Amino acid sequence: MAENKIPYKIYLTEDEMPRQWYNLRADMSNKPAPLLNPGTLQPMTAAELETVFCAELVQQELDNDTPYFDIPQEIRDFYKMYRPAPLVRAYCLEEKLQTPAKIYYKFEGNNTSGSHKLNSAIAQAYYAKAQGLKGVTTETGAGQWGTALSMACGYLGLDCQVFMVKCSYEQKPFRREVMRVYGASVTPSPSEITQVGRKILAEFPGTTGSLGCAISEAVEVAVNTPGYRYVLGSVLNQVLLHQSIIGLEAKLALDKYGVKPDIIIGCAGGGSNLGGLIAPFMGEKLRGEADYRFIAVEPASCPTLTRGEYRYDFCDTGMVCPLAKMYTLGSCFMPSADHAGGLRFHGMSSILSQLYADGYMEAQSVRQTEVFQAAEEFARVEGILPAPESSHAILVAINEAKKCQETGEEKNILFGLTGTGYFDLVAYEKFHNGEMSNYIPSDAEIAAALASLPKVD
Ligand SMILES: *Cc1c(COP(=O)(O)O)cnc(C)c1O
Repeated sequence: MAENKIPYKIYLTEDEMPRQWYNLRADMSNKPAPLLNPGTLQPMTAAELETVFCAELVQQELDNDTPYFDIPQEIRDFYKMYRPAPLVRAYCLEEKLQTPAKIYYKFEGNNTSGSHKLNSAIAQAYYAKAQGLKGVTTETGAGQWGTALSMACGYLGLDCQVFMVKCSYEQKPFRREVMRVYGASVTPSPSEITQVGRKILAEFPGTTGSLGCAISEAVEVAVNTPGYRYVLGSVLNQVLLHQSIIGLEAKLALDKYGVKPDIIIGCAGGGSNLGGLIAPFMGEKLRGEADYRFIAVEPASCPTLTRGEYRYDFCDTGMVCPLAKMYTLGSCFMPSADHAGGLRFHGMSSILSQLYADGYMEAQSVRQTEVFQAAEEFARVEGILPAPESSHAILVAINEAKKCQETGEEKNILFGLTGTGYFDLVAYEKFHNGEMSNYIPSDAEIAAALASLPKVD
């Protein structure tokens, strides 16, 4: 049987690893909308962006035309510590589901930070160092991004200041300590050390913080400290560029065995892993060379693509960051308690938003308890303890495989397994104890948050 030739894990050799990132925007005829200056509502210029971000990263952010960017040697060397990431043929899951579908997943949890975020963290830290900066600031919610950035900065000897949403800081002390192992300083947000933090604390004493507020604090410190810039772990075009390494490796591995996926599935928070996974495949679709079905999966508690609007909005609650045109639920939308911390952002990458608006991609929202059921079904046969975020993609992959069982179709399904769930065991505990909620926001709640969108277009 020919299919027996496909191993459980398809690895690339070091020599086969991609030497360039792929910029999907180069193949889009409708380019993603530019970031706008919140004061003037004009497109942000490179000079304006460079007060906040590293210069080289600003070039990447604004470049809609160059299809490939060389990955600097130092970043490639760092990648070799944990890449190539395996592409796994989920034989055991297929067997369990008794499906004729062939399921593949790209596993990005094989590093200490436990997710794909390290792929962009090392790139952003590298360009900060190359520019001669002393350090970077950022925010972290659940902690994956902060951990990844701490590792990258520790490796390069850059200072790393992380504003961690206060409730996570208190509830996830282990994540915090991992960041400190790598030399980062971690401040609970809102804090007394920034103007915006003091203002929020005065207005809302006892608040446990939010991602949007932590972003505002990190930006304030970066802009006011010589030798510092701000870095962000998702949403931005540059982050999707760096994450294209996921899709490029996956495609190379599948091409080795002549496998063409029919359906490609990824979870979508700010859109970086999904944008990276689908990039080379979407490029083929945009150029008319091949066709694929792409499915973005989001939590029903934060249904950005499926129930949001395609509009200009703020990326942060402090409303100091540039405006991005994206599917959004409104920057003041507060998702209910959901354990997929990485999927709770109110907006979505401008690239993915444009592709979705143009009909190149589908989106589904799924309920939390079903996500955890799928996570356990997967863990018990494939071994890996998945992150709650990643498990959104697992659920939809299982659903698609079950459809194949009914129709007898032998579809090739590829999904992104973005990370591991060792720091999410409180969520698993809630699931086991039957204490997990499935709250879905009402139309009125979403309308109320959308009503506060800035009037731009
Ligand atoms: C952050 C995170 C996500 C979501 O972020 P994207 O930018 O949408 O990829 C998904 N999975 C894991 C494990 C994460 O840490």
